[in-house]
Amino acid sequence: MPEVRIQKALADAGVASRRAAEALVAAGRVTIGDRPASIGQRVDPERDHINVDGRPLRARPEPVYLVLDKPAGVTSTVADRHAQRTVVELVPREIRARAGRLYPVGRLDRDSEGLLLLTNDGDWAERLLHPRHEVEREYAVGLATALRPEQERRLLDGIELEEGIARLLALRAATPTETRALAGAIDPPPGRMAWYRATIGQGWKRQLRRMFAAVGAPVSRLVRVRIGTLRLAGLRPGEVHLLSAREAARLAAALPREAGTRAEAARSDAVGDRRKAPARHLVVSLDGPGSSGKSTVGAGAASRLGYRFCDTGLFYRALTWLALQRAVDLADEAALVALVPAVTLTPDGEGRLTRVRVDGADVTARVHSARVDRHVSEVARQPRVREALLGVQRGLADGGGIIMAGRDIGTVVLPAADLKLWLQVSPEERARRRAGERGLDPDGAEAHRLAGELRERDRIDASRPVAPMRVPEGAVVIESDGNTLEQTIEAVVLAVRAAERRR
Ligand code: C5P
Repeated sequence: MPEVRIQKALADAGVASRRAAEALVAAGRVTIGDRPASIGQRVDPERDHINVDGRPLRARPEPVYLVLDKPAGVTSTVADRHAQRTVVELVPREIRARAGRLYPVGRLDRDSEGLLLLTNDGDWAERLLHPRHEVEREYAVGLATALRPEQERRLLDGIELEEGIARLLALRAATPTETRALAGAIDPPPGRMAWYRATIGQGWKRQLRRMFAAVGAPVSRLVRVRIGTLRLAGLRPGEVHLLSAREAARLAAALPREAGTRAEAARSDAVGDRRKAPARHLVVSLDGPGSSGKSTVGAGAASRLGYRFCDTGLFYRALTWLALQRAVDLADEAALVALVPAVTLTPDGEGRLTRVRVDGADVTARVHSARVDRHVSEVARQPRVREALLGVQRGLADGGGIIMAGRDIGTVVLPAADLKLWLQVSPEERARRRAGERGLDPDGAEAHRLAGELRERDRIDASRPVAPMRVPEGAVVIESDGNTLEQTIEAVVLAVRAAERRR
């Protein structure tokens, strides 16, 4: 067997992730023959006698990936002398015997609940945990009282902690359906707390608890509901499921390829997937008016189809947000064009370009504000701004296997798209949905006002001289009034599959 570095040999044998293996070596717990190992030392795992804590290294057992719904009061450390119960005890004995040493992929503190992964596959764990990948983790956060607007704003601005600025990728009130769904997964059930959904990419110790405490809103309950593409749904407290190797691979495959900068990560993700994409993968444009659900529908359909996804509205939104932030005159084209390089789209947990960064900071949660809504069409109507973004958008679609959503994708950005889709929804329905998302009465006065705003935005988008919004010639029109989200996604998936068969 070829020689490998000692930390890789330990990871391959499922002892620990490579980094944790380095720590074991550094702590003198690993010997080769009768001498302590040193980090980076090359070994032949078949020939050399490697011991960890005096026990010989065994050949790698079958990889095991477990997903677990951790109850509060159980610690996620594997061996803690003070721990009363550890998560490993929740794993059925036969799986433990088969897996050898199991360890958690990232911790979830004793009082926190929800999704936890356990594995004996060090490389997989390492990939998921590597800070560069910023795998998204979403939490249900239970508070004694609702956040005040000023507390919400401070949280979204980022909180200074010892390690640096702690940031949220998203923060919003949980919907009643989400909180009801939580009832099966946590014990005791959610109760009468104010529940929020917060998403992070960083993984600092007790990060969310410290962030919320810093704004005077201590967290009462914290439940992890998603890691990358994997959701808590369906598990009961204390329950353990085996992930199939495919599900485990999917979780790791959704991560961006290793690359220097984030922009490169986004680009190389596109390139990497292009290589994987079978020839029949098409270029699909998905246009439609504001709040027609293009981004949710497009992203959902892309996941089902194994396509990439890009939400181009984010470019215009982030530019507008940045211009407002820097008090740039929204009519000053040259000044707006100068802001374009600061904006990059980056992949979410599934490799879809649904996140936007400005100068490296994730601002996705900020660019959907009412203020940006009001001004974005002013920015988007300017020819030089559109021109500056054209090359970037076309570059992202290179190679196919992509659904690109926007206003002018089928008409201007990708006029040769293999399939053009138009999402049709009435302004009233769109306003109702928007109001619902913001926790307002869907039939109330505010929804009525939103409908007016949406009409105005459509009017500007449709009447601008450059790249006006219109139904592209030959587009398949998908009507979504009265549909559930799932039904509209299904309609898109079917349209794409039919177009794939025609080719
Ligand atoms: O799709 P979304 O509502 O996020 O887009 C925000 C705004 O960005 C639109 O109202 C439109 O003015 C602009 N936009 C555009 N062309 C695109 C995508 C978005 O003009 N391809």
